[in-house]
Amino acid sequence: MNSPQTLEERSDFLARCVRCSQCKFVPAPKSKAYASICPSIDYGNFHAYSASGQLINGLGLLEDKIQYTEEFLHSVQSCTMCGGCDSSCKVNYAELVQPLDSLYALRARIVRDGHAPATYRTLIDNLRNHGNKLGRPRAERSRWADGLSLAVAGAGQPAAEVLLHVGADLAYAQDRWPGLRSIVQVLLNAGESLVHGGTDEAPSGSLAFDLGYTEESRAFASATVEQVRRSGARTLVTFSASALAAFRAVYPRFGLSFGSVRVLHITEYVHELVAKGRLTLRVVTTDSAAYHDPCKLGRLAEPLQPHDTTLDVKMNAIYVTRTPQALRFGNDGCYEAPRALMGGMGMPVVELERNRSASYCCGAGGGTREAVPEAARLAARNRLAEVQSCGTPTLVTACSGCAAHLSETARAEGIQVQVLDLLDLLAQALQP
Ligand code: SF4
Ligand code: SF4
Repeated sequence: MNSPQTLEERSDFLARCVRCSQCKFVPAPKSKAYASICPSIDYGNFHAYSASGQLINGLGLLEDKIQYTEEFLHSVQSCTMCGGCDSSCKVNYAELVQPLDSLYALRARIVRDGHAPATYRTLIDNLRNHGNKLGRPRAERSRWADGLSLAVAGAGQPAAEVLLHVGADLAYAQDRWPGLRSIVQVLLNAGESLVHGGTDEAPSGSLAFDLGYTEESRAFASATVEQVRRSGARTLVTFSASALAAFRAVYPRFGLSFGSVRVLHITEYVHELVAKGRLTLRVVTTDSAAYHDPCKLGRLAEPLQPHDTTLDVKMNAIYVTRTPQALRFGNDGCYEAPRALMGGMGMPVVELERNRSASYCCGAGGGTREAVPEAARLAARNRLAEVQSCGTPTLVTACSGCAAHLSETARAEGIQVQVLDLLDLLAQALQP
C-alpha cells in the first residue's frame, strides 16, 4: 500500500461492517461506567456518531443515498480519530472491516468534496503557510533552543547521532521551554550527540492526515523524511506523540520510510539511556499517580507495515488475506517507557480501567477540539472522572496536547485532578 485508500476503494470494507457495535466499547470492560472506548458516541449518543455509523454514512455517500447535511458533518467532526474503534473491531473481525482506514478515507472525501469546516481550513492554512497549526511565525520555531549549545541539522554541521524533533506544540509554548531546555541540557551534558531541526522543522503531517488533507500530509511527510536524510542522523527522537504516530504509522501509508534511522519518542530515548546507566533519575515524589495513555503515543504509534488489503473469499463466505500479514491491534505502542520512567522517579503507577491499547481518548485530537469543542470537553470530563474513581488526585501523561486539554478542562470545571506532563517531571528528575 503506497497511498491511503480512497472511500471508493474501501467500499468492500464499508459494506462488511456487521453493526455489532463492538467498536463502541473496550474489548474487556471492567465496569459499566468506563466500558466505552468512543468519545464521539458518548457525545452524540446516536449510532451515526460511532465508527459503524460513519461507515454506513460513507457507504451512503458512495451509493448516493445521503447528502452532506449539517448533522452528518457534525457526527464526523465529533470523532477524535483516536482509533479505539479499530482495536476493538479487530478483536472479533481481524482485517475484515478495519474501521480507522475508512474514517481516514471518509474525511479525505469530505475535504475533496469541499465540505471541510472553517476550523479545519484555518488549521490547514496555518500548517501550509506557517508550518504550525497556530499560525505562529516560522522564524520563531527554534527560539526555545536559544542559548543552548545545540546545532541546527545541516547548516554546515557534521552529522550528529540524534536529530531532535520538538514539534510545534512545545516549540511555541514559552512556558514549557524551561523544562524542554533542561532535558536537552542534561542530554548534552551526558555526551549525547544531538542536533535539532531549527526553523526548517516541518509539520509532522499527523493533523493534516486526521483532518483529511492527504496531499498536504504527504508533502509534510516528504519534507520531514528529507530533513532527516540530510541530517545524517541515525536516530530521530521526537517530543511529540502525534509526530511519533505519523512517523510510524502514517508515513508508511505514503510509501515513505526513514530507512535504517531509528524513530523514538523522548520517553523511549531517555528510558534507554537510564537503562544503560548514562542518565540517572532522582526521586521527585513517592505519591502515586494515574497514567493516561495518549492515543497517538499508544495504539496509533504501533508501526504500520504496508500490506495487501485485498481479501479473497473462500466458500462464498469466508474472507481471508492473500498472504499472512501482521495485524495492527495497537498493542505495540509506546506503553512501557513512560511507566518505567514514572517508577524511576518514585511514582507508583495507578492503572486506569481503560489503559494501553484500550485507552480512552482525552478528546483533543482529530480537529475535534477546534470543530466541536463541547465533544472534546466531554471526553476530557469522562477521563478525569475515571481518574477520580481510582482514588488518586494526580494524572500523568506523556503528550503535551493531552496534558493541556485535560488540565484546562479540570481547571474550567473545578475538577480536583492535577494533570502533569511527564516531560516536566523528567526535567525535575534527570540528574544534571
Ligand atoms: S465497525 Fe466493526 S465493531 Fe463496529 S459495528 Fe462494524 S463490524 Fe462491529
Ligand atoms: S476514532 Fe475514536 S472517536 Fe472516532 S469513531 Fe473511532 S473510537 Fe469513536
